Amino acid sequence: MESKINSELLKHSTAHVLAGAVLEMFPEAKLGIGPAIENGFYYDFELPRTLIPEDLPLLEEKMREIIKAKHPFEKAEISIEEALAHFERANQPLKLALIKDLQKAGNETVTLYKSGNLVDLCAGPHLKSTGEINFKAFALTKISGAYWKGDEKNQQLQRIYGVVFQDKEGLKNYFHLIEEAAKRDHRKLGKELDLFCFSDLVGPGLPLFTPNGTIIKDELQKHIEKVCRSYGFQKVSTPHLAKIELYEKSGHAQKFGEELFQVTSHYKQNYVMKPVQCPHQTQIFASRARSYRDLPIRYMESEKQYRDEKPGEIGGLQRVIAITVEDGHSFCTVDQVKQEVKNMVEIIQNFYTSLGMWDNHSVSLSVRDYTHPEKYIGESSDWDLCEKMLQDISDEMGLKAIKHEGEAALYGPKLDFMFRDALGKEIQIPTVQLDFATPKRFELEYTTNEGGKAHPVMVHRAILGSYERFIALLIEHFAGAFPLWLSPVQVTILPISEKFSEYAEEVKTKLLENDIRAQLNDKAESLGKRISETEKQKTPYILVVGEKEVADKTVAIRTRGVKEQETLGLDEFVEKVVREIANKK
Ligand SMILES: [Zn+2]
Ligand SMILES: [Zn+2]
Repeated sequence: MESKINSELLKHSTAHVLAGAVLEMFPEAKLGIGPAIENGFYYDFELPRTLIPEDLPLLEEKMREIIKAKHPFEKAEISIEEALAHFERANQPLKLALIKDLQKAGNETVTLYKSGNLVDLCAGPHLKSTGEINFKAFALTKISGAYWKGDEKNQQLQRIYGVVFQDKEGLKNYFHLIEEAAKRDHRKLGKELDLFCFSDLVGPGLPLFTPNGTIIKDELQKHIEKVCRSYGFQKVSTPHLAKIELYEKSGHAQKFGEELFQVTSHYKQNYVMKPVQCPHQTQIFASRARSYRDLPIRYMESEKQYRDEKPGEIGGLQRVIAITVEDGHSFCTVDQVKQEVKNMVEIIQNFYTSLGMWDNHSVSLSVRDYTHPEKYIGESSDWDLCEKMLQDISDEMGLKAIKHEGEAALYGPKLDFMFRDALGKEIQIPTVQLDFATPKRFELEYTTNEGGKAHPVMVHRAILGSYERFIALLIEHFAGAFPLWLSPVQVTILPISEKFSEYAEEVKTKLLENDIRAQLNDKAESLGKRISETEKQKTPYILVVGEKEVADKTVAIRTRGVKEQETLGLDEFVEKVVREIANKK
């Protein structure tokens, strides 16, 4: 087997090959820069005409020729003056500008790399020759505009993007992933499965959940509340508005600044649409005298919060301005913190296991930036204690958390959980955060067992985070084929013909009585057409009923993703589905 080529060198060297190909097509092209990027590379050019998609295959063909010619990358180190003279002669003003920048920065020499017809200003390094690139393993993917040096005051250039891999399998996998991502796009599936919509009158960034989407949202909420209730969480409900003073005291007014929606009432009262839930919940804690015997006190809620976003950054469910957040806090004593955090980690673990996502997780222990303690609030002794506690929890629970300095929240260290979705994209949602500072700011206190007063510790936790982003993630992760318990329609009944509608109705009633979300499709269309329509909706079970089923009181079952059809007695089928829903299969 051939040894693997360094992927940075490969990507960057292929950018040189692209520049060579562009110079062949447009000898008057002016070259910008051509770095390696996450998935490949790009190169910026000033060209005599606007590129069209049809240019890309022509350029690819020229690139293949350059690769097959096996041009070595020849390095030359020359003085700045010589370099200026060279690129002056070559009429390459952008390269001249780069050399002048290097001159200003105090460089006396620069390096040039020659490969075939291309002489490029570049620090390197590169492959030994263009021949090391596999000519079957690269592709040009996109043309876009780009400003010189990324500054919109500068001239606009044309950017060509490309990808390159070790072998043609790599390229094939890449195209497969792109195709899958497009098929799974939550905006596309959200429309096809009728889960949510937007209205120009309501406004961008304000999604409307349809009946189907609302079922998914409610099922998630019911599930999470049930689990959290078993750990002592109590549900609370707080208004969407608060006086700005609440957020001045919590520090969020300064932190969120322009992202806050401010509302002035007719009576000149200044309100803020809540950007987070925590401050409201502190006021429920503060509403009564609390004793050490009452702690931990745990609140949870699934309510909206609001963040003003730049209109250009709003899109689909990923970035919205009205966000439904599943939020929870535990107020406890220092001695109780460890157990509280362990409970929350367990909740997170169970929740993501039930969705089949836990296998692919990693954990970050996000601690202070020790060189800049002034960036945080709270006592350094509290911080030491908390960081050690989270480290112990990670060790005891086998979380293998990796320490990340400088990633802590303003008020305390935290455990962050990362997952990879079905396409390998990293998602960070759940978090458990320790907070000594907020209870002090709000003067929250409880009576200790010695009769004195002490501030509780606040543990913040998010499990699924925002329902909007989480549902977008679920749609893409499952490609719309939700697990049974989350499916808006769990069973669709199709009578073979009108003659069997009465029995089909009977089946539907029986399912509904057992809390199974069932629907009947007895439209005057062929059975084949109705089956394929239902399959497109990704319904977990399709029941076909005809003469035999009516006579035997059975149902013929087509299970999503299973080839063989199965027949069961109606009661048996109901039992099976009820059990599967309860088990979150
Ligand atoms: Zn280079
Ligand atoms: Zn919070």
